[in-house]
Amino acid sequence: MPQTKILLDESDIPTHWYNVVADMPNKPAPPLGPDGKPIGPEALAPIFPMALIEQEVSAERWIPIPEPVREAYRLYRPSPMFRARRLEQMLGTPAHIYYKYEGVSPAGSHKVNTSIAQAYYNAQAGIHRLATETGAGQWGSSLALAGQMFGIDVRVFMVKVSYDQKPFRRSMMHTWGAEVFASPSPHTATGRRALEVDPDSPGSLGMAISEAVEEAASRPDTNYALGSVLNHVCHHQTIIGQEAKKQFEKVGEYPDVVIACCGGGSNFAGAAFPFLADKAAGDPKAKNLRLVAAEPTSCPTLTRGHYAYDFGDSVGLTPLMLMYTLGHDFMPPSIHAGGLRYHGDSPLVSQLYHEKLIEAVAVPQLATFEAGVAFARTEGIIPAPESCHAIRACIDEAMQCKASGEPKVLFFNLSGHGHFDMASYDKYFSGQLEDYAYPAAAIDEALHHLPKVG
Ligand SMILES: *Cc1c(COP(=O)(O)O)cnc(C)c1O
Repeated sequence: MPQTKILLDESDIPTHWYNVVADMPNKPAPPLGPDGKPIGPEALAPIFPMALIEQEVSAERWIPIPEPVREAYRLYRPSPMFRARRLEQMLGTPAHIYYKYEGVSPAGSHKVNTSIAQAYYNAQAGIHRLATETGAGQWGSSLALAGQMFGIDVRVFMVKVSYDQKPFRRSMMHTWGAEVFASPSPHTATGRRALEVDPDSPGSLGMAISEAVEEAASRPDTNYALGSVLNHVCHHQTIIGQEAKKQFEKVGEYPDVVIACCGGGSNFAGAAFPFLADKAAGDPKAKNLRLVAAEPTSCPTLTRGHYAYDFGDSVGLTPLMLMYTLGHDFMPPSIHAGGLRYHGDSPLVSQLYHEKLIEAVAVPQLATFEAGVAFARTEGIIPAPESCHAIRACIDEAMQCKASGEPKVLFFNLSGHGHFDMASYDKYFSGQLEDYAYPAAAIDEALHHLPKVG
């Protein structure tokens, strides 16, 4: 029997997070304050513990993972890697397709990799309460779980459209003891203002971030936690790519293409950056390696956005970050991959894309579900709608291999399962899902509101 499931031992759980900053040809552009001047670490101290701020600005290649965090990782790591033989067969491609499955975490996605770390450092700093936002609910549920592990109360502002579409994600957060509000909510000044303008606002990730940051900044007992975008989040996710490299060693292969879906950029960073390290080190096997971020055509941050300083939230409470952005007040269509509806992108991913060290593709909603269903019917696992973007991009690569006859090694990150997204699958099956054209007018409008700095 050919090997299809590639497993590691507990002792293979990485001991360090990888920081791509050490290998970037140009140092990251600094975040700016409201006056347009670079901010120092102290500006972040009201809402983040110092240990995470240090990681945020670190240029050290390796950041040690504290033992209690590794202990918590043992609950579901190392995560399995699979060779997708039945999918390969169905496609008739000579490509070898591998995927890493992050849906084995209790919350069902890669986000637990950072929620555990963030809850740990906040607990170490004496914080007992965290405020956060969530899009589709994966981050809120991941932080709720981690809060239980380290004795922290969690309050979640959940984007309204997902709050209504994904009631069971809410139930999970409640089960893990978190409070959950639909955003915009009447609990913050930001939310109240948004509700005045539009009582039926579907919300956005940027809006929910504003609410959570406002809450954390106005309460000394409360910190803020973000599930993507920031440097420290990207670092935490690199355990995915580090494990994958060991798994590739076990089968004696190395990828030609690494693919992950891209919302705020953290699972892409986690899967891709450890491979980028090989390229940076001049490793001959990584010479032709390509790293591809897959995003929705309806929220095409990397492929259609501007590389500019912008706020991380919708009302401008966060520092300005240099990133690809569609404008902080861009309201993406209510697509079913809620985790990919963010106006910006990780500054690290953005800079690497700007410097052409990584690539990006945009894929339309219907094609992603088509890919997800093909995957479920061959490989078994029902993927999260976000992960379907990576599967789509991978299948497209595999079909190119079929046309050219090249037996490339393709690797994608299966960031989570879709067990709480079955209503979206139902809509797909009953023909109620649509493709949203690239919303050019809305993006142009939002880009006019970019802050004038730099
Ligand atoms: C949140 C989420 C994403 C998108 O977030 P990134 O930070 O871009 O990784 C992708 N897949 C799943 C399953 C998610 O929960």
